Amino acid sequence: MIQKTLVILKPDCLIRGLVGEVTRRFELKGLHLCGMKMMKLTDAILNEHYAHLKDKPFFSQVKNSMLRGPVIVCCYSGFDAVEVVRTLSGTTNGRKAAPGTIRGDFSMSFQENIIHASDSLEHAKVEIKRFFKDSELFTYDQPNINFIYGVEEL
Ligand code: ADP
Repeated sequence: MIQKTLVILKPDCLIRGLVGEVTRRFELKGLHLCGMKMMKLTDAILNEHYAHLKDKPFFSQVKNSMLRGPVIVCCYSGFDAVEVVRTLSGTTNGRKAAPGTIRGDFSMSFQENIIHASDSLEHAKVEIKRFFKDSELFTYDQPNINFIYGVEEL
């Protein structure tokens, strides 16, 4: 099933100059870029976005880390895009993430782990709405689609 998922390139990704490297991986994989914008997050949006962490001792550190600089929010689509992007991202703790994944290759930290990626289709739908207006998401022809997927998959 074609899905959309949300990726946030975190401040550490921008500050360390890894934006091109990370987005290149999604492009080369065959994911379709539907939306992309740079923005400065706020405490209010982070309280919503990280509500599941509000009782954790590191909650304020995570928010401070996300406020250290701008982020780039991206929406990618593709078959099983939520799972594909999570697999490319690697596990949360960069020190434990598998080599070849974004976190495994570029992060030495639990907190400073380069990207956020939606963890389920349900959350992806809510998160995309949180960061993008409908008018900021685009559909456009992908003439090579038959080379990215098998005919029976389309
Ligand atoms: P993920 O980003 O892999 O979906 P979570 O939703 O559990 O992971 O956590 C959100 C973010 O909070 C993580 O990406 C990471 O930046 C930070 N975080 C999570 N757990 C810890 C921890 N134990 N120590 C420091 N930061 C953490």
